[in-house]
Amino acid sequence: MIVISLGWGVQSFALAAMSALGELPPVDAVIHSDTLHERNGTYDFAKRWTPWLIEHGVNVVTVYNKNASPTNEWGGLYLPAFTSNGITDGQLRRQCTYAWKVAPMRKWLQAHRNGETVEQWLGISLDEARRAKPSDVKYIVNRWPLLEMKLTRAGCKAWLLSNGIEVPPKSSCTFCPYHNQAAWRDVKASPEDWAEAIAFDRAIRDKRPPFDLFVHPSRIPLEDIDLRTRQEMGQLELDWDDEIFESCPEGVCML
Ligand code: SF4
Repeated sequence: MIVISLGWGVQSFALAAMSALGELPPVDAVIHSDTLHERNGTYDFAKRWTPWLIEHGVNVVTVYNKNASPTNEWGGLYLPAFTSNGITDGQLRRQCTYAWKVAPMRKWLQAHRNGETVEQWLGISLDEARRAKPSDVKYIVNRWPLLEMKLTRAGCKAWLLSNGIEVPPKSSCTFCPYHNQAAWRDVKASPEDWAEAIAFDRAIRDKRPPFDLFVHPSRIPLEDIDLRTRQEMGQLELDWDDEIFESCPEGVCML
C-alpha cells in the first residue's frame, strides 16, 4: 500500500499532483489529516483542487481527530505554547502534531492496510532535508520522493506552474506557535484566521496555572503584538526577525 501524506502545502501537493499526472506512480490514497484549524486559504485551495485530483483518478481521503480543539480542557496543552509566570519562561512539549495529524492518519491506515506494510510518501524537499526521519512504527516505511528527485521548494513551485497548476499557500494551524513574524503577519492579513488565532491564544491562557500560556514567543497576547516589519517601523535593516524562530520540525506539519 502506498499513500501520500497531504498537508495541502507546496511540497505535499506537488507530490499528489505528480502522481495525478503520471510523473510519479499512482498511489492508493492521498490522505489529508485536517487539524480543523487550517488557514482559510488552505481550505479554499483544497476545495478548488480536490475535484481536480479526483478527476485524475486520485483517491483523496480526509481524516481528523474530532477532539482537536485547543479550547477543550486538555487540548490547549497539546500545543507547544509558550509559558510564563512572570519569573520563569518555558515552552510546552508539542503533542498536537501527533494527536491531530499522525494519530488520525494511522487510525485510517490501520483500518485499510489489510496487514500490508504502508509506504508513506512525505513532501519534504531538498532545502528541508533535515526534517526527513524514518517512521517510528514498523508497519509504515517513509519515503521522500522530492529528495530522490533533488527538488527544492522553489523547484516544486516551478513544476506546478509549468504544468498549469496553482501554487498553494503555506499550510499550518492559524495559531501555530512555530509561526515566524512573517507568518503571523500573513495570518493577520486574513480577518477570519486572525480572529481564530486570537480566540485560541486567549482560550489557552489559563490552562496551566500558575503559568500563563501564549501562542507567541514574546508571551504577549496576540492582539497586542506589533507585527510591523523593521522597514515599516522606519528602520532600513534587513528583516532578520523573520528568521529567528524554528518551523515545525516534524515532516507532517507546515508542508
Ligand atoms: S501546524 Fe503547529 S499547531 Fe498545528 S499541528 Fe502542526 S505544530 Fe501543531
